[in-house]
Formats: sequence, structure tokens, C-alpha cells
Amino acid sequence: MRWAAYCHCESCRRASSAPFVALFGMADEGLTWSGPVGSYASSEDVERGFCRSCGSPLFYRNPVRWPNETHIPAATLEDPSDYAPKAHVYYSERLPWIEMRDGLPKYDGTGDDGTRPLTDDEAHG
Ligand SMILES: [Zn+2]
Repeated sequence: MRWAAYCHCESCRRASSAPFVALFGMADEGLTWSGPVGSYASSEDVERGFCRSCGSPLFYRNPVRWPNETHIPAATLEDPSDYAPKAHVYYSERLPWIEMRDGLPKYDGTGDDGTRPLTDDEAHG
């Protein structure tokens, strides 16, 4: 696992029908799927995968922005309790009724894009 975070961006929210999504990133190498997996282009450069049996979102890929990396919703794991998000990303896109006070850093972007964590006043003001 390369990273683990809650994503509040609008496209993740809409793609998953959820107020935010707990995701982790992993290298494509060694990643295999069993069962019927479908995918579609949700926007330019973005591929989103889903289970053809039940419809659950399974992955996000943007090879231009994150080469050789797949982002996976933690709730799809057989045991999601092993997973612990370390940050909130795209926090400024959160729904107005979401207020997270779990002490994790909150970023306007992803944090690895040069954005700094928001201060408490910025995050909650
Ligand atoms: Zn997102």
C-alpha cells in the first residue's frame, strides 16, 4: 500500500454514491482481479472499474497523473479493518454537512501535489 486517505472530491463521491470514499493506492504490479470486472472512462484519462455481478466500484486509475498506480476503495477489501486512512484529500470539496474532527491532516488537494495541510480555522471555519 502506497498511501491511504479519505477522498472528498466530487467525482469520487458521485462515482461511489457516498459522501466521501476511503481509498488506498497500490502499485499495478502484482494486482490481479478475479471475477467479472468492468470499467468505463469517467473523465479524460480516468478509468473506473466495477464488479459486473454486483456493481460495486472497484478501482480508479489515471495513468497520466498516477502512472502504474491503482486506487482502490477500502470497503471492497475482504477485511477493511486492516486499513487505516492517514489523511483527508480534496477536503475543500466536501459536502457542507461533513465535519471531520479525527485529527488527521486535511488537504485542499492530495498533499503530494504540493498542497499543505489546512489549519483548523481553514478546515472548520
Ligand atoms: Zn476523489
